[in-house]
Amino acid sequence: MFSLDPAVFTSRATISLGALEQNLTRVRAHLTGQKIMAVIKGDAYGHGLLPAARAFARAGADYLGVAQVAEALALVREWGEQPTEGEALAGHPALPPVFSWIYTPDSDLAPALEAGIELSVGDTWMIEAVARAAQATGHTARVHLSVDSGMTREGFNLEDIPAAAQLLATHQQAGRLEVVGIWSHLACADDPDSDATTSQIAVFDEARRLATRASLTPRLAHLSASSGVLWHPGARYDMVRPGIILYGLSPEPRRTLASDLGLRPAMRLESELLTTRQLSHRAGVSYGHTAVVEDGAVLGVVPLGYADGVPRALSNKGYVTVGEGPAAQRAPITGRVCMDQFVVRLDGPLPAGTPVVLFGDPARGEVSAAQWALASGTISYEIITRVAARVPRLYVK
Ligand SMILES: *Cc1c(COP(=O)(O)O)cnc(C)c1O
Repeated sequence: MFSLDPAVFTSRATISLGALEQNLTRVRAHLTGQKIMAVIKGDAYGHGLLPAARAFARAGADYLGVAQVAEALALVREWGEQPTEGEALAGHPALPPVFSWIYTPDSDLAPALEAGIELSVGDTWMIEAVARAAQATGHTARVHLSVDSGMTREGFNLEDIPAAAQLLATHQQAGRLEVVGIWSHLACADDPDSDATTSQIAVFDEARRLATRASLTPRLAHLSASSGVLWHPGARYDMVRPGIILYGLSPEPRRTLASDLGLRPAMRLESELLTTRQLSHRAGVSYGHTAVVEDGAVLGVVPLGYADGVPRALSNKGYVTVGEGPAAQRAPITGRVCMDQFVVRLDGPLPAGTPVVLFGDPARGEVSAAQWALASGTISYEIITRVAARVPRLYVK
């Protein structure tokens, strides 16, 4: 991936490693002794795979969870590399066990087994592929049996668990693999009106019973992501798999705000005003003239656009924070968001170069990723993961 010179491209995503660590500690305090698998898929939700993973490991994460096996391999390969700037003072922890759940029939699993990566098995071909790779490499694979308890996405259906468990037990006896975990994923844990979680727990418990009957003894049962951690204490089992709360955002801000959970957003998207102007005439703004402003209006230009991850759906909807301290103002995005820039309406004249926070920490008076999500009809997850790779990440303690 190319990177832009931050001395020229001065917009950036500032990532607080301290916030990542504190959030994990905060989640730990909320639990009753369960292990924590810190989920770092999607380039650690846009925060940077390696620095975020190291921050969580420093804070005591028991496991790291990543969707793609290719990401897991990159993580293991680069773990020992030089810390990035800002990370340097923070210390270099040992790599916790890594769990990964996405690979395809054509994926070469040998490097993953050699690297000790633990794999999900949720289909018969997966069990066979892992067993084959184990035979070829001479490594015993550590696997987690994936159950479809009601998400209807991946994993064995309950009626297929006995045969799957039997097949796993056969390979386990032959030393090709060891079933260390059994897991599933909740579909509606953020919805207080849904009873799906209760039924998913029942299916999961039955799957665990069937696995035991096939003489498998997985020591780690795990079902809950962030919403389960927050709202379903009965779904915690031996380990939980939080993602979004570790980055300091609520999985469902309409239900609970991150600040009420004691969480601090780790990412702040920052830029500065490129130009400002006061109009001497009524004018249409940006493509399509979807906004029309009166003469005398003061406009500023922010040099980030949808190519950087600013949702075009925020056109005439979102806000950014312009200026700092008591003089900070909430400036509405005016007209359509372009590929590399957008226009905001200002209260009054400000110099070019005035700092702009697109989203950050509402406790500091900044617009939150949750507000952007609400305004653009999506979820906070998408706001933080869509910040483009070309936007430099700046790590601070
Ligand atoms: C993304 C994901 C998580 C974490 O979800 P959050 O809602 O961010 O906590 C946990 N488990 C699986 C399987 C996931 O895909």
